[in-house]
Amino acid sequence: MSYELDRVEKECPCPCGKGRIVYGSGSNDWNQVREGMSEIWCGECAKKYRLAGDGLLPIDFPEYSGDEQVKEKMQALEHVVSNYDGSRGFEYWPEEVREKRLSTYLTDEERDRVKKERDRYPLYIALTYAKELCGQYSEEVLLDVNMQLINAKFSTQLTGTAKEIAERHKRFFNTIKIENVKYPVQVALRNYQKYQDADLEDQQYLSELKKELDGYKKEYYKDYPAYRAKREKALIPLYLKDVEDA
Ligand SMILES: [Zn+2]
Repeated sequence: MSYELDRVEKECPCPCGKGRIVYGSGSNDWNQVREGMSEIWCGECAKKYRLAGDGLLPIDFPEYSGDEQVKEKMQALEHVVSNYDGSRGFEYWPEEVREKRLSTYLTDEERDRVKKERDRYPLYIALTYAKELCGQYSEEVLLDVNMQLINAKFSTQLTGTAKEIAERHKRFFNTIKIENVKYPVQVALRNYQKYQDADLEDQQYLSELKKELDGYKKEYYKDYPAYRAKREKALIPLYLKDVEDA
């Protein structure tokens, strides 16, 4: 549904002088309002120019473009960098990192469950849920929780952090059975140091990726100052003035 600019707040004459450049808000058929619209209200100028934020540019004035191949690499890397945040971004881990971590985070039995029975639960716990517990609680607190879980028969006997973790487990997995609550806590304890090492490793890896990305950006935008200068020359600045009774 397109918006029609129907409330002009600022305006100025167009380059040919027969019409106006307007700025204001628009609405559509469903009475939704969009702020910050601008339009060229002149048939002739609309054929010659396009609005470019800070002014008018000739309609065929190009956007900046650098080397297409560099752009592809740059965007692919940008995607990885913005999605790579340890556990949540594990599909972006390099293959060898994923293999290495899975082989140390999971026991042989759990790996079999994942591989042979296609049960992804241990995978989710080891990569995400237990890691989050480690991020939230100290090792000491988790050891204490584990002791409570070992000694309790029913979840109603739990107190403090143990109770908190049991309730969280219920929200996530719909069960508060001691055996079920205990499992991620024990995975967390088993992997506590490994998660910390992995975080450090991730930080280093990410900073390398960012360095590489900076290289691509520099390469892609190398002609930008020249483009900017050309654009500066072509740009017709606009001096919009407030409209009375807008
Ligand atoms: Zn005009």
